[in-house]
Amino acid sequence: MFAYRGFMLDSVRHMQSIEEIKKLIDAISLLGFNKFHWHLTDDQGWRFESERFPVLNSVAAVRPYSDFGKTRDNNPYGRVYTKAEMREIVAYCAERGIDVIPEIDMPGHTSALLSAFPSLSCTGEAVKIKTHQGIFKDVLCLAKEETFEFITAIIDEFLGIFPGEYFHIGGDEAPSEHWKNCPDCQRYMKEHGIESYAEYQNSFMNRIIDYLESKNRHCIVWNEAAKGRNLDKRAIVQYWKENPKPTVKFLNEGGKAILSPFSYCYMDYDYNITPLNRVYSLKAELTGLTEEGKKNIIGLEGTVWTEYITENRQLEKLLFPRIIAVSKIALGENNKPYKDFVADVRDIRKQLNGIAFCDEKSWTKPRISTVYGWLKFVKDHYSIEYIKEQLF
Ligand SMILES: [Zn+2]
Repeated sequence: MFAYRGFMLDSVRHMQSIEEIKKLIDAISLLGFNKFHWHLTDDQGWRFESERFPVLNSVAAVRPYSDFGKTRDNNPYGRVYTKAEMREIVAYCAERGIDVIPEIDMPGHTSALLSAFPSLSCTGEAVKIKTHQGIFKDVLCLAKEETFEFITAIIDEFLGIFPGEYFHIGGDEAPSEHWKNCPDCQRYMKEHGIESYAEYQNSFMNRIIDYLESKNRHCIVWNEAAKGRNLDKRAIVQYWKENPKPTVKFLNEGGKAILSPFSYCYMDYDYNITPLNRVYSLKAELTGLTEEGKKNIIGLEGTVWTEYITENRQLEKLLFPRIIAVSKIALGENNKPYKDFVADVRDIRKQLNGIAFCDEKSWTKPRISTVYGWLKFVKDHYSIEYIKEQLF
C-alpha cells in the first residue's frame, strides 16, 4: 500500500461547484484516497482568491471565451474560488482523512497570471489569458527578483488556506524561447554557470522548494523538473510522461516520486484509449530502479484534466469506474484477476449511490481500440487550424 494515494482535479479549464467537489471527495474517500491535489492555476484561468493581489480575481480568473476542441463558447468564463469556499473544501477533506495539495503551476502554464502581471514575464509585454488547450511560450522570467518576491507572497496566501504537508509547484511544459532572448535570463545563467534551460528552471524551483521547506512544506513537481540534474532532492517528482530515466536516477539517488503515467492514470481520455482493463493492469514501478530506488516511490495518483469536460456528469463518467482501479493499485489490492475486480466494481458502484458511471459495455476494450480511440480523440477535439498551429 502506498502512503500517498492521490486524486487530482483540474478546476481551471472548467470549474466545478463546491457541492460537486464535495460529492467527488465523498466518493474518493470511500475508495481509500488520502490526497486531493487541486490544480488551481493555469494558462486558461486563476482560481485562488487573493486579498493581496485582487487583480488576480478579476483579470486572471476570467477568459473572454472558450475554444477547446471543436466547440466554441463565446461567453466569458471563470471566477476564483473564494477563501471561504476553499476553507470549506479543506475542512470537508480533513473530516475524511484527506489532505489537500494546492498547485500553483510555474514557471510555465502561467498565461493567466501574466495577463494580470505582465511585468513578471521576460518582455514585460501584455500577455493574453488563453482560451484553448496547448503549451504556450508565455513563462515567468526567472531572473527578475520581482518574480521570486511575487511567487513567495502568493504562496504565503495559499499557506493561510491550505495547512497540508505538500505543495505542488508544477514545473511542466515550460518552453525556453523567451529565456533565450531575455538579457536578464542570459545574464543570470552566465553569472551562475548554468548551461541548460532545465537547470535554469530548477535554479528557480529550488529557491521555491527551499522557501516552502522553511515553512515545513514538501514540494511536488512534474517530472520535467527531473531533467535538470540540480533538482533539490527534497522535492517529490510526479512522473507522468516521456523518458522515465531522469526520474529513475532521481529515485536511485534518494529522491522521492509519485506515479501518474498518463496512459493509465489520466482519466480525461476516452475509454477507447484507456479502458478499465488497461488502468487495472498498471504496474506501479519504473524500470532501472535499485532496491533503494523502489522504496522511494511513495505514491500513485489518478488525474482528471478538464479541457473537454464541461459538466459534472461527464466528469463522473470518465472517472468512474477507472478511478476505482487506481485506488486498488494504490492500496495494493490489485492481485485479483480482472474479472473478479470487475465484480468488485459492481459492488462498489452500489455504495457510490448518485455517482454517474460509464456504461459497463464500454469498460473493457481490446488493445486495438486505442488506435481507434486516438483517431477519434483527435477528430473530436482538434481542428485543422489547431493542428497546424501546433506543428508549424
Ligand atoms: Zn527573462
